[in-house]
Amino acid sequence: IKFDKLDIGVFCALALAVVAYLQLDKLRALIFSDDSSLAVHSDSRDIVEVLKENKKDFLVIYASQTGTSEDYAKKFAKELAQKFSLNVMCVDVENYDFENLNMLPENVIVSIFISTYGEGDLPDGAFQFEEWLQYLNPGDLANIRYTMFGFGNSTYEFYNGAAKKTEKLLSEAEAKRVGSFGLADDGSGSTDEDYLGWKESIFEDLKDALALHEREVVFESSYDYSELPKEVNNSISLGEPITAYLPGTPLSYNDDGKQLGPFDSTHPYVAPIVNTRELMKSSDRNCIHVEFDLSGSNIKYSTGDHIAVWPSNPDEKVAKFISVFGLDSETVFDLKPKDNTMKIPFPVPTTIGAAVRHYLQISGPISRQIFSSISQYVSETALKDKLNALSKDKVAFAEQITSKYFDLADVLLYLSNGVKWDFVPWVYLVETVPHMQPRYYSISSSSSTEKQTVHITAVVENFPNPTAPALGPVTGVTTNLLRHIHLTKTNEDIAKSTLPVHYDLNGPRGLFSPYKLPVHVRRSTFRLPSNPATPIIMIGPGTGVAPFRGFIRERIKLVSSQENVSLGKHLLFYGCRNDDDFLYHDEWPDYAKKLDGVFEMVVAYSRIPGKPKVYVQHSMMERKAELYELIEKGAFIYVCGDAKGMAQDVHKTFLDILSQGKDITTEEASEILKTFKTSGKYLEDVW
Ligand code: FAD
Repeated sequence: IKFDKLDIGVFCALALAVVAYLQLDKLRALIFSDDSSLAVHSDSRDIVEVLKENKKDFLVIYASQTGTSEDYAKKFAKELAQKFSLNVMCVDVENYDFENLNMLPENVIVSIFISTYGEGDLPDGAFQFEEWLQYLNPGDLANIRYTMFGFGNSTYEFYNGAAKKTEKLLSEAEAKRVGSFGLADDGSGSTDEDYLGWKESIFEDLKDALALHEREVVFESSYDYSELPKEVNNSISLGEPITAYLPGTPLSYNDDGKQLGPFDSTHPYVAPIVNTRELMKSSDRNCIHVEFDLSGSNIKYSTGDHIAVWPSNPDEKVAKFISVFGLDSETVFDLKPKDNTMKIPFPVPTTIGAAVRHYLQISGPISRQIFSSISQYVSETALKDKLNALSKDKVAFAEQITSKYFDLADVLLYLSNGVKWDFVPWVYLVETVPHMQPRYYSISSSSSTEKQTVHITAVVENFPNPTAPALGPVTGVTTNLLRHIHLTKTNEDIAKSTLPVHYDLNGPRGLFSPYKLPVHVRRSTFRLPSNPATPIIMIGPGTGVAPFRGFIRERIKLVSSQENVSLGKHLLFYGCRNDDDFLYHDEWPDYAKKLDGVFEMVVAYSRIPGKPKVYVQHSMMERKAELYELIEKGAFIYVCGDAKGMAQDVHKTFLDILSQGKDITTEEASEILKTFKTSGKYLEDVW
């Protein structure tokens, strides 16, 4: 083979590009101290070696998709350490190898926390852990004792599938479970209580198994906490989602100032919001359509995927939190891990103000557990007793606290009759208040029509507090932020509007200006059938319609770009109260026209004066013969939206349709639907 000068030039350029790319990744790992690189400082990935190196005597491992099991695993580890003086190592399975687990010292128990994602799957980061589990032989773990707790949603067929799968493989390898197999059900909204009930009994089991003695809980920080001079330089985070976004971090931006990826759940892309729209006409409810521009980021998505939005807290809630705990927003602090196994929870050094605004989840339902731990700082006996009593009484807690929709700052002021809680150490709050997590949205655009733009459809969480109106409305963090952006961007008069809370839209050092938010895309299994002739049945009331807008736009693109495409029936059951909250009301007639006769939307109205309430399942029953016929023709079924009520009602309706159509029992119909779910013909995207 002969090469001319041009070939050699091209080769050299390619080789340089490859080297530069590889070096870039290495440099990145060295320079950026985001969560993933802080996870382990030790050279080893061997879980037992690291445990021994750090002289730990209890192991807690977690596999988390959205941060829930991570949060609970850390709480569990902290409480174990404080109550029983254990030296607990708490780590993400993603960062370790388990091949030598059977070398674990005899008196060490492993507590496992596993979330289920998708169709009974383990979280993405647990890929290697799962592979290790699958190759275990009987007897391989005969010397291992473990506890097991799973996080799942009973609406899904494979409820807690990941924890069940893990449990099965561990028991086949003859590992011995200590105590009961705990399961949390988000479908019934009882995750926190499920965990607390399990934890109380498992602590008793662990006490027996390890001859532990309980002591009074005294908070000890897992970090070396220090305060720095109040000078904000370029190394101090002001709420940047990860340290890569600090000014002057090399290799974060290219010469044109564009952010450098790759972007994923550990490195969000700060995406410009190019368009927003209010989708509701009513005066007291809002639903915001938001379009994120991903061009230049190299992020790819497919129709049916999710996008995660990284929010921050509103001014009002930040101010209240800072005031109740008597904090100084300007204080600059640093956290250093006490040993190699600890992970820093967010970018530090930072200021207290930035941490409260960007890194802590300061609003939302409160866990009973916090009452027992915070009581250690209370000297007034009556208040201390009240906190302890409420923390032990599930029913009283639900009646007196949960029902009032208190945020943490509100509830503490309420219990102390307005006296501030400035005696609670800041470092305790850093470790006890949950950390802010991104919120997921079903993408409502199609990757065929909007390649670089992702649309979401977010209903704004904002309602008057039913039992404590003086506290102001109950608001969701992300959706009110999206609405604030929408109102500001479209120049609507915010003062006159009903905006209940207000945000710093500029973000740290102007990072979110003008109108940007950090996002990352998550793959889902919610996909159209590859054969367009396959009929599909879609059920998506409210914002559950989001991915179906994407599906229909995808089909329109297909028929407009290819000749002679034969589409199967596309039947959508949509539900809303009335025409005021009919999402994308103006778009559907056009879609129906373009998909001439193939696409049909059935609308169930639940609040038309003088008319009976109609929900999607009622409309489905009215069309039961047709639905049965479509199922017999091999239709794919898609359900999206509310997990608690709707998805279960819809499932039951399909059971009725099948059992009546085939003249079989409900149990037999249930088996059929189960096979549909396993084979990916009945797909749910519910939350
Ligand atoms: P949060 O701050 O997370 O609050 C959650 C709820 O708690 C709100 O209802 C809020 O009013 C309530 N609350 C606030 N304070 C308190 C308190 N003190 N006590 C008790 N309750 C309180 N949503 C959509 O709108 N569209 C979608 O397409 C969509 N797709 C999703 C897809 C997936 C896979 C998942 C998991 C979720 C999806 N969601 C969707 C839901 C979405 O992720 C968010 O949960 C939702 O938008 C609320 O987020 P928020 O930050 O505004 O509320």
